[in-house]
Order: sequence, then structure tokens, then C-alpha cells
Amino acid sequence: SGNLYLVGTPIGNLDDMTFRAINTLKQCDIIAAEDTRQTRKLLTHFDITPSMLFSYHEHNKAASGPELIRYIIEGKNLALVSDAGLPAISDPGSDLVQLAIEAGIRVIPIPGPNAALSALIVSGLPTERFTFGGFLPREKKDMRKVLEAFDESNGTLLFYESPHRIRKTLAHLEEILGDRPVVLARELTKRHEEFARGSIRECIEWLEEHPPLGEYCLLVDGIKEHERKAEREAWWQLLSLEEHVA
Ligand code: SAM
Repeated sequence: SGNLYLVGTPIGNLDDMTFRAINTLKQCDIIAAEDTRQTRKLLTHFDITPSMLFSYHEHNKAASGPELIRYIIEGKNLALVSDAGLPAISDPGSDLVQLAIEAGIRVIPIPGPNAALSALIVSGLPTERFTFGGFLPREKKDMRKVLEAFDESNGTLLFYESPHRIRKTLAHLEEILGDRPVVLARELTKRHEEFARGSIRECIEWLEEHPPLGEYCLLVDGIKEHERKAEREAWWQLLSLEEHVA
């Protein structure tokens, strides 16, 4: 049988496309995409002409998944891409991976950009432990349930959020978790890439002057604002001591 390749694609800046992603997409017999129109633009940019472009998304995956698996069993190599970033991360894909593994198909990752991890590494929040929470539920009581299940041991919390809901989500977060250091990462890798770092309150105020537009990652510190502040102050004290010694 053929292989299933999970191909990472840019989250904004097309220069983030990897050589291996291009070569894999060129060599595969079938490309399965979340939004074929969106993917066609990407393929055109990189001069990739697929022999077959197949639609695979949340609403047709139950039917199209098994069909794609059949193609692979028949010997075709299949590349799965999503609209942006890594397939199967807050994107359809993990069901297909499961089917493939059950069918004894080899699944091969072609790594690429990912919004949550890109935001995390520049956030300044702890990275040694973190929890990816995807999109939070819309309803406050459901959000509360999800958030109350997290504690300090989960480390930094990573969420995706839409510009329409970001303010409301921050207000709920403040109410449910108390004031925490947060980071908003907006339009990563794009022209209007921007970061807001501060307490939840400060970020809500920042949004007053920077009306939400584009794509956001929302990162939340695992501990409260005042605890983090105390830790930072201790660091700075240590730093000035060392300077003094030097
Ligand atoms: N599979 C993608 C990945 O690997 O990052 C995530 C897909 S998820 C459906 C889309 C969400 O990711 C957006 O609503 C936004 O929260 C976040 N996102 C995607 N691209 C982004 C970017 N360039 N800057 C900030 N957030 C982004």
C-alpha cells in the first residue's frame, strides 16, 4: 500500500513552506485538503499540479475518510494538508490518522509551522511544561468546566481564539482563573504580526486600542499574576547582585 503523509503548510508567510513539503506534495498521487480552493492557491504558488485534489473536512470526513484509506491501500501515496499549519492540530486529520494506523498504513509527518508553538516560544511564559487547549467552549459554564480542570501542574495554557470572541474570553478567564499573566499573539508570521504581554486586565485594555482583527493565539500563565511578579523580582535582584560581583 501507499503512505499517508501529514504535510505542514505555512500559517501566513509562504516562505515558511519547507522543501520537503513541496517535494512531498509534488510526489504524492493524491492531495487531501480541508479547503481545496485555499490549497489550490498554495499549490499554484509553488508550481505544484496534483493529479487529484480531494476535499477532506469536518463535515465530510466520515464518508471521505474511508474512501481515502481505500486509495492508499490500492497503492496511492496521499498527502493531507489543512488550511494552515499542522494537519490534525485543531484541524481535521486525527480521524484519518487513526483509520490509517488501523489499516496498517505507514503515517509520515512532514513537519512545518504551528501557531500555538510559535506563540509559545516567544511568549516569555514557561515552556518546560504546557497544555494545548485548542478552542475554548463558547458558553461560559462550559469554559469554566474546562478551565477549572487545569491546575498549576498543567504549566502554560495555549488556546486558539477568534477575533470576535477574544475580549469575552479574556473577561471570562479573569473571572474564572483570577488575574494571570497572558500573551496575545496576533497574525503570526504575517505583515501585522503583533504581541501583547501583560495581565489579563492590561490585555483587555490593550484590545480597546487595538480592535481585534485577524488570527490570535492566547497564552495563559499557569500561575497568578502576583506570584509570577514575585518570582520575577527575585530574578532581577539576583541579576543586580551578579552585576555587582562582576
Ligand atoms: N493547524 C493549525 C496549526 O497548526 O497551528 C491551527 C488551525 S486552527 C483551525 C486555526 C486557529 O489557529 C486560528 O483560529 C488561530 O487561533 C490560530 N492561528 C492560525 N494561524 C495563526 C496565525 N498566523 N497567528 C495567530 N494565530 C493563528
